Amino acid sequence: GDLASRVEVEGDGDIALLARDFNKMTEQLNRNEEVRRNMVADIAHELRTPLAVILGKLESIQEGVLPSTPETILPIQDETLRLIRLVRDLQQLSLAEAGKLPMALSTVNLRTIVGKIMEQFQIEFEERGLNINISGGKIPEIIGDADRLTQVFVNLIGNALLHTPSGGSLSVLLEEVENLRENEVAGEDASRRLRDVFRRKDDKTEEAGSKEKNSRDESATGGWVQVTVRDSGEGIPVEELDHIFDRFYRVDKSRERENGGTGLGLAIAKEFIQAHGGTIKVESKLGEGSSFRILLPVRPQTL
Ligand code: ADP
Repeated sequence: GDLASRVEVEGDGDIALLARDFNKMTEQLNRNEEVRRNMVADIAHELRTPLAVILGKLESIQEGVLPSTPETILPIQDETLRLIRLVRDLQQLSLAEAGKLPMALSTVNLRTIVGKIMEQFQIEFEERGLNINISGGKIPEIIGDADRLTQVFVNLIGNALLHTPSGGSLSVLLEEVENLRENEVAGEDASRRLRDVFRRKDDKTEEAGSKEKNSRDESATGGWVQVTVRDSGEGIPVEELDHIFDRFYRVDKSRERENGGTGLGLAIAKEFIQAHGGTIKVESKLGEGSSFRILLPVRPQTL
């Protein structure tokens, strides 16, 4: 049942207006409650299936139906590790959604971050015979959390690798964007988020009684950096594009889980980028490839 019920008052007097406001709030509350319920159901579903598989295999080994060998134990270990990743991702996602993600801010060189990740994937790229390319001109360093940003690009590059067949290509383009006008919608959305980041930061600054604000303003540039991760892979059907940033959304349910994915990679990427005051967009064409475009402010506090 719903959390709260409606109040019916006829007419347009003060009490009726109040009742209308009350009903609006009630609807919102019920909607939030429904979102929460769906989320709990999703999580239960995501945990129950693999746990049943793990238990089943362990019982088979214990009963002697399956031998106790590395071949039977390793898949159980892999599945357990995937569940641990899933729980960790869920925890970070819920912190981020609540605006409580701890951020260790420092000066971040995105080109270095992307370069390191590409090196880590080097062997897989070679095995696949993928054509790899990092391009773009000089970009400014940004203020951000290096670990969170690393995770975002690991998720995006990992996905590109997973969904691009042998002989395909994967490219990362890093650019400075000085005029955001062409991205007005993205900019607006981002600046609203940014003010939230700024406010949180200010709260802390005031607490500490510091006079840091002026020096921050002087270092402000107001620029943006754009990173585009593009692959020539299988692409995403148009009707799925609106959903792929949703938690647990997978275009091909069974297959993605086998790949070790948690279904949270893009949801996390989106939340982490938004926590930096940035935006993430996707474009894709079935059979031709996908392109994920991230826009990050150089100095989050200037907007
Ligand atoms: P998963 O853990 O399943 O990879 P993600 O949140 O990272 O979850 O991605 C959600 C879904 O979006 C994937 O299951 C896949 O269907 C689709 N997807 C993500 N990146 C790509 C890509 N580069 N090419 C094609 N499909 C993709």
